[in-house]
Amino acid sequence: MITGKNYIGNTLKASGDITHKTINPKLNIENPTAFYEATQEEIDEAVSLASEAFKTYRKVSGAKRAEFLNTIADEILALDQELLDMYTSESGLPEGRAIGERGRTIFQLRSFADLILNEDWRDNSFDKANPDRQPLPKDDLRRTSIPLGSVVVFGASNFPLAFSTAGGDTSSALASGCPVIVKVHEMHSGTAELVASAVVKAIEKTGMPNGVFSNIMGRGKTVGAALVKHPKVKAVGFTGSITGGRALFDLASQRDEPIPVFAEMGSVNPVIITPKALENRSEQIASTYASSINLGAGQFCTNPGLILTIDGHKTQEFIKDLAAKTIAIDAQCMLHPNIKSGYIQNGLAVSNQEGAEVVGKFEKPVEANYAPSQITSVSGKDFLENPKLHQEVFGPFSLVVKAEDEAELIQIINGLEGQLTGTIIAEKEEYSKLHDIVDALENRVGRIVFNGVPTGVEVCPSMQHGGPYPASTDSRFTAVGTNSIKRWVRPVSYQSFPNELLPEALKDS
Ligand code: NAP
Repeated sequence: MITGKNYIGNTLKASGDITHKTINPKLNIENPTAFYEATQEEIDEAVSLASEAFKTYRKVSGAKRAEFLNTIADEILALDQELLDMYTSESGLPEGRAIGERGRTIFQLRSFADLILNEDWRDNSFDKANPDRQPLPKDDLRRTSIPLGSVVVFGASNFPLAFSTAGGDTSSALASGCPVIVKVHEMHSGTAELVASAVVKAIEKTGMPNGVFSNIMGRGKTVGAALVKHPKVKAVGFTGSITGGRALFDLASQRDEPIPVFAEMGSVNPVIITPKALENRSEQIASTYASSINLGAGQFCTNPGLILTIDGHKTQEFIKDLAAKTIAIDAQCMLHPNIKSGYIQNGLAVSNQEGAEVVGKFEKPVEANYAPSQITSVSGKDFLENPKLHQEVFGPFSLVVKAEDEAELIQIINGLEGQLTGTIIAEKEEYSKLHDIVDALENRVGRIVFNGVPTGVEVCPSMQHGGPYPASTDSRFTAVGTNSIKRWVRPVSYQSFPNELLPEALKDS
């Protein structure tokens, strides 16, 4: 049973009078519960509780923190059908996706629990003393990583579970020893409250300090900005638009004490298809990509929004086939009305540029929040000359570029903004000629996919989900996989320290 209130630490509170409702995008109606925006006093209380909790939580053993994360996972599972129903009613996504995303959320929590059972994740290093070294003796030096402090996590609209209240950012921060204050995405406030209730139960069951977690609702420009500016907040995790992520990054840099904002934002995820691959398996590539473009109504940060080809005798046929196959898939419901209107506006903005040709568009009538898919094409020359063609269209849309030759293709890759992924579709006999394309992609993206699709982001240590700006604000870190814990810690060295004063991870034992 949801209340519409904020969790300020373990307590439900709603002393303000600004409310919002979530929307059922499939039915295009408001859901019944009114959710209360947190007041400035409630924000201050949540942040103060978090910094108090940090004093003890940072010292809680890895085994106890792991038990906490595993208990959150158990409590989320215990929410059962109530959570699945809330998720589908607030996102328009089908129940199968809700189950899959819940599975991913549980997997992330348990992966971080496993990771922190020993101290290796801290990248500890030990340099033994050498009192006999000439001309100067060398001191004993040991280095480890310690948690930063209270972290604010912005829930992502496109992952109501896996990148929201107890998603990847929250579980990695809690695993590292940082308290978390979640700024809920307004469109998933009910899902967020249910998941928050599971986290609070886990806090109580495992004896974690009150304030290690809060769940706060309200508008980004008021509540979100107040959290980021709060002097006791030490880092921010964000997934969403470039405008939103950049605004929060700028706010954080302007503070008296600037703090890191790990924002994962826009990406068009270029896919390079060689002429040989088109010659040999054009139809199969078109089928695979029509599905990838439509997956989740195109609402993935790794959606293939830009396909780069070299204009040859198979290219036009491929583009037509891709368009036909893409629009043959039924239109799907988008996450909320603003994402639908953004999709239409941005799709039009790209398709109305000089030289752009709409090759295929889903023409049957669609209901309010459903997305008509679209494939547009343009020449390499027009693409190079017009940055408006480079922008992300978040939804089932892809722009196919026809480069004149490989030199122009590489020029196009070099001119792209930073991306999360880049994909190469090529044939075996071409491998030795692909070095220039690989080099160009390495400079622009965080993950290079070979003969596959960029959608589908595996949660594992080798995953890199982040790339040069604007894909993310710090390309040295990943937002997915166990290495994402490194965003929330900083290194400290201990020189000539007595064993008993060293952190557990660095003691001689
Ligand atoms: P969003 O507009 O960036 O919002 C994400 C969160 O940030 C919300 O809580 C929002 O609060 C807050 N926020 C936004 N602008 C802010 C500002 N200037 N100051 C403080 N807080 C701010 O993202 P969205 O609602 O998920 O979707 C909008 C568009 O973002 C999509 O159409 C798509 O283009 C893009 N998007 C991209 C990705 C990706 O992975 N590439 C993922 C999701 C969305 P409010 O709701 O109050 O604004």
